[in-house]
Amino acid sequence: MTNTARAGVWAAPGRVNLIGEHTDYNDGFVLPFALSQQVTVAAARRDDGLLRLRFPAASGGTKDPVQLRIDALEPGRGPRGWAGYAAGVAWALRDAGHPVGGVDVTFSSTVPPGAGLSSSAALEVACALALNDLYELGLPGDELALLCRRAENAYIGAPTGIMDQAASACCTPGHALFLDTRDLSRRHVPFDPAAHGLALLVVDTRVQHAHADGEYGRRRAGCEAAARTLGVRALRDVPHGELPAALGRLPDADSRGLVRHVVTENERVLRAVDLLAAGDLPALGPVLTAGHASLRDDFRVSCPEVDLAVTAALSAGALGARMTGGGFGGSVLALVARGAEEAVGAAVAAAFAEASYAPPHWFGAAASAGARRLS
Ligand code: ADP
Ligand code: MG
Repeated sequence: MTNTARAGVWAAPGRVNLIGEHTDYNDGFVLPFALSQQVTVAAARRDDGLLRLRFPAASGGTKDPVQLRIDALEPGRGPRGWAGYAAGVAWALRDAGHPVGGVDVTFSSTVPPGAGLSSSAALEVACALALNDLYELGLPGDELALLCRRAENAYIGAPTGIMDQAASACCTPGHALFLDTRDLSRRHVPFDPAAHGLALLVVDTRVQHAHADGEYGRRRAGCEAAARTLGVRALRDVPHGELPAALGRLPDADSRGLVRHVVTENERVLRAVDLLAAGDLPALGPVLTAGHASLRDDFRVSCPEVDLAVTAALSAGALGARMTGGGFGGSVLALVARGAEEAVGAAVAAAFAEASYAPPHWFGAAASAGARRLS
């Protein structure tokens, strides 16, 4: 018989960010919600210090099992791909002094990898939650999220902020997570488009982004340099009302674009939270579309396929649309009339066919559960 203290099943979702892009590493605001697509791990403690990882191809993963010694994990020396995220989480927990030992983990996933829907954080958070329970660490969700970010930054080498991990760990069904990434204070804001005759469509352009690949890191470094020039701890500290003066102190168009995006994007998150609280969901549409223009023109992280998905969705009647996630590909979200998901998705697919792009995938998204133990 299985000892439930030593084995179990845990799940952690991917996420869509409603608004607040590239703000998390600037100490700013984000407003993600959890998807129903998730990573599931069946895990059991082992007493021999081995990390044995499986991710069968039939469960959305890849080929061979991976076996590692938990006391030999080292940043930069880990396995590549999905196993690296699990190893990174075990390393981050141990490096922070938590007594984590061996474990058998079998993964399955319905989160498309590299689609800007945070398959990486879902892998990390599912593992972290399993280890937290199996080794009785008692760590709360936000602390697990911080350790998962450390795994992704220090072990994997991807310079992401805290949004993805916090969303996967802390979201609740029927709510978007309004998170202040400076201190991780958060508010669960009711988000139920269906109750307002609306729906949220996610279009995966199937253009794979690559976070660790330089552009993301360059934007991050550019933001940090601009903050230094402006004499603030982070760009979050530039008040919206002082934006024109701040822009006047920056040396070039690139850094002005970075700062303008971050400062106006934080303002858009606050506006979106107000609109959700007031139940004025249609007014959210233009806020989303303005966010996309800012990412495209000022932060310059969009790409032709993503821009086409946005314009095609708007032409087909979406109230608003924007890229979601880090950019350079990935997914677009569109706020549409309830029941119009199929028509708007098909319009984007037709525009893609016209442009000779690979067919996109689309699905309707509702705010789903954050990470949890299933059994
Ligand atoms: P995102 O988090 O937006 O999906 P990332 O580049 O951060 O994109 O993470 C994607 C990486 O996570 C993949 O390159 C792969 O290493 C790993 N991964 C996630 N899901 C899977 C999966 N189902 N099969 C194999 N690898 C996966
Ligand atoms: Mg990721």
